[in-house]
Amino acid sequence: MSEEKSLNFLEEIIEKDLHEGKYVSIVTRFPPEPNGYLHMGHAASICLNFGLSKKYGGYTNLRFDDTNPTTEETEYVESIKNDVRWLGFEWKNELYASDYFEKLYLFAIKLIRLGYAYVDDSNSETIAREKGTPTQPGVNSKYRDRSVEENLHLFEEMKAGRYKDGERVLRAKIDMAHMNMLMRDPVIYRIKHARHHRTGDDWCIYPMYDFAHGQSDSIEHITHSICTLEFVPHRELYDWFIEKLNIFPSHQYEFARRNISYTVMSKRKLLQLVNEKYVDGWDDPRMPTISGLKRRGYTPDSIREFCDRAGIAKRENVTELSLLEFCVREDLNKIALRRMVVFDPLKIVLTNYNEENELASVEDNPEDANGSFRDVPFSKELFIEQEDFMENPPKKFFRLFPGGMVRLKGAYIIKCDEVVKDDSGKIIQLNCSYIPESKSGNDTSAIKLKGTLHWVSVQHAITAEVRLYDRLFKVEDPSSEEGDFKNYINENSLQILPFVYAEPSLKNAMMDERYQFLRKGYFTLDKNSSEEKLIFNRTVTLKDTWAKEVKKG
Ligand code: ATP
Ligand code: MG
Repeated sequence: MSEEKSLNFLEEIIEKDLHEGKYVSIVTRFPPEPNGYLHMGHAASICLNFGLSKKYGGYTNLRFDDTNPTTEETEYVESIKNDVRWLGFEWKNELYASDYFEKLYLFAIKLIRLGYAYVDDSNSETIAREKGTPTQPGVNSKYRDRSVEENLHLFEEMKAGRYKDGERVLRAKIDMAHMNMLMRDPVIYRIKHARHHRTGDDWCIYPMYDFAHGQSDSIEHITHSICTLEFVPHRELYDWFIEKLNIFPSHQYEFARRNISYTVMSKRKLLQLVNEKYVDGWDDPRMPTISGLKRRGYTPDSIREFCDRAGIAKRENVTELSLLEFCVREDLNKIALRRMVVFDPLKIVLTNYNEENELASVEDNPEDANGSFRDVPFSKELFIEQEDFMENPPKKFFRLFPGGMVRLKGAYIIKCDEVVKDDSGKIIQLNCSYIPESKSGNDTSAIKLKGTLHWVSVQHAITAEVRLYDRLFKVEDPSSEEGDFKNYINENSLQILPFVYAEPSLKNAMMDERYQFLRKGYFTLDKNSSEEKLIFNRTVTLKDTWAKEVKKG
């Protein structure tokens, strides 16, 4: 059943634009700078941009914003493409802002010719000082009134490599007393003798963000250029360039960044975590990166659902991590195969059991109406969890205790007859009896019980390593705390259990399958898992152990 959802503010704008015939279809773009891996903030932007063009019949370009030659790497380009595809989106064109270097250069010449740009020989300190402050107007540079010819000549020389880094810049000629500081003759080209990952040594002048972004949008005929709120003051400049150059009128719209509690969402900070080895790479399962969440076992569906429910806002806000966990639980509950794995084994011996090669038939997923069953070997010696037995239980303990009964999932009801201890008094084994007529699916025992335990057969069990994750930070918003955000890292965010006992079907576990280990949570194979050593990551627990109510969206 689909709920009627009200339009978000961007959908309202687009519907109005389409209704008024401003555009026949819409074109959006996702413009990552290839200087890190994508995180959940980018996922929000991806879902938004691709979602809108899909909804309103148009397309989305993937444009690498690679105008800064010194920070970008090809490794990031590949990871970004993988992540967007993995999320389930396909771009129309793969583009690079650096492909437009020639066009942008010609735009700069056009501005100079129109008298809207000049070469400034001032150093950066002077330029900063002359800018003024928000309450004080700036002053004109002494180079501001150069002739068009002189500007063209100097800009040509800048391009030809005649000057060192920082010796000259090209500035837009707008208004040094403008209310908006960004409009006070912003620098639009700088000299940088650096190798670019795509254009190599072709250029030694590079356009600034503001001169590249809007014009790139315009070149691609982007109708709705969506970015985050910190670009609000840039919009005026965005519009100014488009107007003066008289090119396709793309428009910029802003929404609030996606923030999520108990994590940080900036590539710069995430890079620190990677470089300083707080985590095992960009795809560490505790990272809020798309590749980290993927390795942790999140599904693309759950991430898209999260983005959908979290919605978009015009004001800064923080979304609860528990909403993300809620979304993945919902999805995994539908698709995960149920399996039995004992983390902390207690051996039980069924003293009256003498069958051989018996199999218990256990359903793979009770949520799946025409679901399958699998055979799990049952035998005289089994492991259950230590915590599922108590010698002196409190009231309402529905698991096993001396003289008590429980059902073993998919198998029999058993009764605990005797507790076996070693010399130190530690419980090492339980001697139990089973009720032969109580087998699941064919139970004629008429015994009604509340407790059902997961179990594995000792002789058939396989071992695996399990990695349990917790939130990466101890505080809700590490970036707003005093001092270094890394002081707030949760040092218990990873717990490794080197040996757990799993039912043998998990020998054939597959990377793209999801599992629910009964009563333990949702799990997926880690990328470093091998036939010799199975490794499972816990995606999420079965319930929200942090007990925060999640409002259904
Ligand atoms: P970071 O600060 O992490 O480096 P960024 O904004 O510099 O992020 P870009 O690669 O430049 O990262 O961003 C690509 C696109 O993703 C931009 O349109 C940007 O607005 C959007 N984006 C980045 N972070 C977020 C976020 N937290 N929430 C929503 N959109 C985001
Ligand atoms: Mg950036």
